[in-house]
Amino acid sequence: MIYNNDDTIAAIATAPGVGAIGVVRLSGPGAIEVAQSIFLGKDLTMQPSHTLHFGRIMGDEGSVVDEVVAALYRNPKSYTGEDTVELSCHGSQYVLEQVLRLCLNHGARMAQPGEFTFRAFMNGRIDLAQAEAVADLIASQSGAAHKAAIHNLRGGFSIELKQMREQLIQFAALIELELDFSQEDVEFADRSQFYALINRIQKATDQLLDSFRLGNVIKNGVKVAIIGKPNAGKSTLLNALLNEDRAIVSEIAGTTRDTIEEVLNINGVLFRLIDTAGIREHTIDNIERQGIERSREAMTKADVVIYLADAVTTTSSEEQQKRSELDASGQPYILVMNKADLVEAQTLEMSKQVADAKTLFISAQNPEHIPKLKQMLFELATGGALKQEGTIITNTRHYHALQEVQKSLKDIKTGLDSHLPGDLLASDIHQCLYYLGEITGKVTNEDMLDYIFSKFCIGK
Ligand code: GDP
Repeated sequence: MIYNNDDTIAAIATAPGVGAIGVVRLSGPGAIEVAQSIFLGKDLTMQPSHTLHFGRIMGDEGSVVDEVVAALYRNPKSYTGEDTVELSCHGSQYVLEQVLRLCLNHGARMAQPGEFTFRAFMNGRIDLAQAEAVADLIASQSGAAHKAAIHNLRGGFSIELKQMREQLIQFAALIELELDFSQEDVEFADRSQFYALINRIQKATDQLLDSFRLGNVIKNGVKVAIIGKPNAGKSTLLNALLNEDRAIVSEIAGTTRDTIEEVLNINGVLFRLIDTAGIREHTIDNIERQGIERSREAMTKADVVIYLADAVTTTSSEEQQKRSELDASGQPYILVMNKADLVEAQTLEMSKQVADAKTLFISAQNPEHIPKLKQMLFELATGGALKQEGTIITNTRHYHALQEVQKSLKDIKTGLDSHLPGDLLASDIHQCLYYLGEITGKVTNEDMLDYIFSKFCIGK
C-alpha cells in the first residue's frame, strides 16, 4: 500500500446506485482550496470549521454541474484529522463522477480503499482497533454486530488494552531501574504486587479470548443445518422458521442449489439455514441423496444442528440412539420431535418427562411452537451471553494477538516463580507489551496495515 500522506485525496463516499444525496469527500492540506476552485458560493477558504455552505459546482466550461452543500472541517477536528470538505450532491452517479473528476482535475488524487480511515489512524484520531471497528460497523447486518462494532469504535476495547499496557509498563520500568542498581541487589518492583497484576491481566485476557466464540457468532452468523428423515417435517419447519409459506421451487439440475441459504434474525443474531435446497426439493432422487451421506455433510458444515424426528413413528429406542449419535458428534444440537399434535396427550407428557434439555416437542405446523425453538437456537449459539456488556472480540487478528499475550503472561509468571533475573523478566514483559500494542497499532508493520486497510471500501 504505502499511501502518500501529505497530498489531498478525493472519493465518492456514498454507495454506488441512485440515492437522494451522494457525497464526494476531500481530505488533505489542499482540500478546502480544491473545493473552492470548483465551488461558486462563499469563499470556503475564509470559513470557519464545522460550517455548511450552499453553492454550485461549476464545470470547467463554466456550466453548472450541481447545486450542493459543502461541509467544512478544519484540521485537526475532522474524521481524518486533516482539512476535510464533504460535498453533498444530488445522488446521481453521473453527477458524483463529474464532481469527483473536477476535484481530481483541480489537484486532488483519487483515494485508495480505506485511505480516509488510514489517515485518521496515522493522525492519531483513532487507533487500529477502532479503525477495524469502522469496517465492522459498515459491514454490520444485525443488531448484535452493530452493538459490538460501536462499542469498539468508541474505544471500549482500546481503553481496556491501554490500561493493561500502562500497568505493565510501570512494572517494566521499575524492573529496568533495578538493572541500573544491580550491584546493590535492590527490588523496586514489588514481586507479589506484580504477580497479582499479572493474574488480573490474565483473567481479563481469558475473558476476551472467551468472548471470541460469541464474537464469531455475531460477526459471521450461525450456520444451522436442519436434518432428519424424509417426511419428518423439515420443509414445514423451515417455512415456519422463516415465517412464510414459500412454494417449493423446482430447479434446473446443476444450478446453484447447494449454495441456497436462508437467513433468520433471532434477537439480533443472524442464523444461516444451510443446505435448504436439499430440504425444499421433494424428488425421489433427492430423498435418496438425503441419505446418511448428505446429512453428514450438512452436519460438518453447520455450527448448530437441528435434528428433526417424527414423534409418531420414532420409537423411544430410536430416539435414544439418535441422541447418542448426536452427542458423539460433539456438535451443538437440538433434537426436535415433530408432529406432537398427532401424539396422544398422555404419551406426549410421558415423553416430555424423560426427555433432556436438548429435546423439544413441537408441531411445526403450529406457529405458537416456533418461538421456543428460536429461543433454544439463540441460547445454544450465544450461550445466553449476549446480554453481557463490555468487549466482545470479533476480529481474528485481535484473537491471535491476545493468544500471544496470554503466552507471554505465562512466561512472566514462570519467570517470577523461578526468581528469574530482572533483565530476562523485562524481556518477557516487553514481549507481552508488544502483542498488546499490536492490537491498537502502537506497534505496527506495513504488511499488517496493508492487510487491514485494504479491506475497506473506497471513500472510507
Ligand atoms: P420433509 O420431507 O422432512 O421436508 O417433511 P415435510 O415438511 O414435507 O412434511 C411431511 C409431511 O408431514 C407433510 O404432509 C406435512 O404437512 C406433515 N407435517 C409436517 N409437520 C407436521 C406437524 O407438526 N404435524 C402434522 N400433523 N403434520 C406435519
